[in-house]
Amino acid sequence: MRCFYHRDVEAVATCKSCGRGLCPDCAHDVGNGLACVNRCEAEVLALNRIIARNKTAYEKTSGAYNRTALFYAAVGAVFFAGGLANWRGFGWVLVPAGVIFFLSAYVHYSTGRRFRGE
Ligand SMILES: [Zn+2]
Ligand SMILES: [Zn+2]
Repeated sequence: MRCFYHRDVEAVATCKSCGRGLCPDCAHDVGNGLACVNRCEAEVLALNRIIARNKTAYEKTSGAYNRTALFYAAVGAVFFAGGLANWRGFGWVLVPAGVIFFLSAYVHYSTGRRFRGE
């Protein structure tokens, strides 16, 4: 591929924004990607910002799902143990409730994994 702006020069990179071939003189490294010099820097910077923001949003969502999963698992454990200890009283109600909390914990945990891309 040749540089889009210098047809006789071999391209060494492509612009992250417009995808044109760039020679060393035309490629401007804006941090996390190359842009056409004096042309696409702003677009590539904006693009990088959007990607970075999405990444933190995903990590935050994943963390929230994990905390909810932990909470459900803890409540499930309390219900389950309390239910077994009071089986002759109202324990038979608590044990299935504990199982349901465990299932919710698992669902939240696996949803959080999806957000992390695992
Ligand atoms: Zn460009
Ligand atoms: Zn060039």
